[in-house]
Amino acid sequence: MSAALQSWGRYPPHPQSTTPCFWRGDVGAALAQLAQRHGSLLPFGNGRSYGDSCLAASNHLLQLRPLDRVIDVDWQTGRICAEAGMTLDALIALALPRGWFVPVTPGTRFVTLGGALANDVHGKNHHVRGSFGCHVGRFGLVRSDQPPHEPPLVCSRHEHPQLYAATIGGLGLTGVVAWLELQLMPIASSLIDVTEQRFGSLSDYFALSQAMDAQHEYSVAWIDCLARGTAAGRGVYLAGNHAQDGPLAVARKRPLRVPVTPPVSACNRWSLSFFNTLYFHAHRAGPRRRQVGYESFFYPLDRVLHWNRLYGPGGFQQYQCAIPHREAEAAIAALLQAVSKARSGSFLAVLKRFGNLPSPGLLSFPLAGTTLALDFPQAGAATARLFATLDAIVREAGGRLYPAKDAHMQAEDFQAWYPAWRQCEALRDPALHSRFWQRCTAP
Ligand SMILES: Cc1cc2nc3c(=O)[nH]c(=O)nc-3n(C[C@H](O)[C@H](O)[C@H](O)COP(=O)(O)OP(=O)(O)OC[C@H]3O[C@@H](n4cnc5c(N)ncnc54)[C@H](O)[C@@H]3O)c2cc1C
Repeated sequence: MSAALQSWGRYPPHPQSTTPCFWRGDVGAALAQLAQRHGSLLPFGNGRSYGDSCLAASNHLLQLRPLDRVIDVDWQTGRICAEAGMTLDALIALALPRGWFVPVTPGTRFVTLGGALANDVHGKNHHVRGSFGCHVGRFGLVRSDQPPHEPPLVCSRHEHPQLYAATIGGLGLTGVVAWLELQLMPIASSLIDVTEQRFGSLSDYFALSQAMDAQHEYSVAWIDCLARGTAAGRGVYLAGNHAQDGPLAVARKRPLRVPVTPPVSACNRWSLSFFNTLYFHAHRAGPRRRQVGYESFFYPLDRVLHWNRLYGPGGFQQYQCAIPHREAEAAIAALLQAVSKARSGSFLAVLKRFGNLPSPGLLSFPLAGTTLALDFPQAGAATARLFATLDAIVREAGGRLYPAKDAHMQAEDFQAWYPAWRQCEALRDPALHSRFWQRCTAP
């Protein structure tokens, strides 16, 4: 057993004990033993989920990071079969020099393949390629109701199709994914051609996104949610494509590190306001084109390891919602207004467009529309009050929240927003249970 783990937001504080699993063939036995000892458990990847969806109801995790081997790969077609504990970081280091990249990547490369599948993660190219699960052809699933030494159940659209659909975005509850097969995306260069443009209001963002997203593989915007008055809704829009030629070079910069947790949060109104103003003015008013390395385009936050410690011992929560196209502009304006009124700015405020490519997963988060993600230091009742206001806006607009980032969603909301939860519950491995599932499926 190793040291206690927490989720990325370090809230809610339910320290977890873990047992690592080193061999694919041992997953079944580990599952059986831990279920017997602790009643239930949860598979764990690299803990990059913010809230309580990666925390076990029993506080006991099966750590799958050590399962990080390539099982089979065809560099002609870009089809790779790898163990579920492999991180995107390790996969990119292998694939990129050969002209392949992950088809969908979240904003950190320190997630595992198993974690990416269980949350059916999305990237800056959802409008073009859908979510991670769209690119996973098959995976091997180990369940506690199978004899422990039997090989994993192979799940695909044609083999155990119900388990396939329930596991993609299934929050780690339908079994342990031991391996998965992913179709990589061909690229000609590790550089990204980026167009950056400042915008002065939310309507300008929607106009830019409408005009530019379709011509770009990637798009994202940062928004200054502390700006008020005439500056309200200002931000910076970024669109990118893989460059057509250039090196295929893996990033090797040594990241910085936040060594300890400060006694109080370093992310407060004043530091955020300073950062936001600086960031906004660091970009030109007109469009600017430049080439950047893939790591600075996709993973700016990975430059500082353990940046989550900056929020202090109380941790933080991310609020990420998706709002359907028709309601998006008005609802996002209302959300930002509520945040500004509560005088609780967010360090990270990100807007992305979701396309309409359906996910094979039953509980997948994206819906055709716009997603907004905001980070808030955990401030007890004040955070709860603000989130209740934001939830009402999301509900009214026909949107929903992202379980991978969540620590507060009401059970009634989850059940209304994800009606397929009952199908997933029926297919849940009886030995697997999470804090999130306990909270959100309560009657
Ligand atoms: C800086 C940052 C940026 C992010 N940006 C994005 C983004 O742009 N888009 C996005 O979608 N997400 C984003 N995320 C969230 C992150 O991508 C997801 O939470 C991801 O699922 C975390 O993967 P993990 O390997 O750390 O898994 P964990 O957080 O450890 O676990 C996540 C879930 O996967 C399950 N799981 C893990 N391994 C297995 C397995 N082998 N078998 C079965 N279940 C398993 C766990 O039970 C849990 O339910 C971001 C997170 C951070 C910290």
